[in-house]
Amino acid sequence: MSTPTKPLSEVLGAIDALWPVSGAEEWDAPGLIVGSADHAVSSIHLMVDATLESVAEALEQGADLIVAHHPLLLRGVTSVAESTYKGRVVADLIRGGAALYAAHTNADVVPTGTSAQLADLLGLVEQSTITEGGTPGHGLGRVGTLPAPMSLYELAVTVGEFLPQTAVGPVAAGDPEAIITTVSLCAGAGDSLLSHPSVVASDVYITSDLRHHPASEAREQALLGGGPALINISHFAAEWLWLEQAATELRSATGLSVSVSDLNTDPWTFQVHRVGG
Ligand SMILES: [Zn+2]
Repeated sequence: MSTPTKPLSEVLGAIDALWPVSGAEEWDAPGLIVGSADHAVSSIHLMVDATLESVAEALEQGADLIVAHHPLLLRGVTSVAESTYKGRVVADLIRGGAALYAAHTNADVVPTGTSAQLADLLGLVEQSTITEGGTPGHGLGRVGTLPAPMSLYELAVTVGEFLPQTAVGPVAAGDPEAIITTVSLCAGAGDSLLSHPSVVASDVYITSDLRHHPASEAREQALLGGGPALINISHFAAEWLWLEQAATELRSATGLSVSVSDLNTDPWTFQVHRVGG
């Protein structure tokens, strides 16, 4: 039996039906980064980040198309010289005969997107989006209720168990004994949603890449006017959760072979704990 093959143009049509580019944030740059419409695709490999290592893995496996969550060329570049890692990745892809596509915020906002995966793993009920998009049911982030209340500490442990292992696990801000019923979350870097009314009204906000000032200011404000405890998680880990769902959808939409990278592309590789006093 010969391996099914489709032109990239046809695969792109299927991808756009799953994660319409029209749903992307204005600043975003999803879509085709490397490749031509008539390129033949039989094998697709999914990853969070197109890094030197993850692209090498895809090429070794014979992938014709890489679908990455993060756009490689989000910000302007003036060179694709191979002394730059982005140039090297582009050159490796072209030499290796593989196309690269990014499904980013357009994949965050769909009902089966990155935040929805995390919300489903936690079993959140009565889910809604934090921000409503143009299409009903589409939007950034998720708000919902835990199937049974638990302490902030228990929730942080539970979240850590769902996520792939990374050097830095979940860190929380708030009383570990606080009872959590309502959860808001955004799988990507969600500090821009910290003051959103749906986030402020929830018992905890789970997101990634929280920095000192946004986190500190949100906690201080919570002391005065109420606001959520925080759980900060690995950006990579949170978005990796989406890949299996995306693979299942892409497999059924294209009939092609679709695999998921299990390489850890979290930039942090170890954490130290102070020993003794
Ligand atoms: Zn991301």
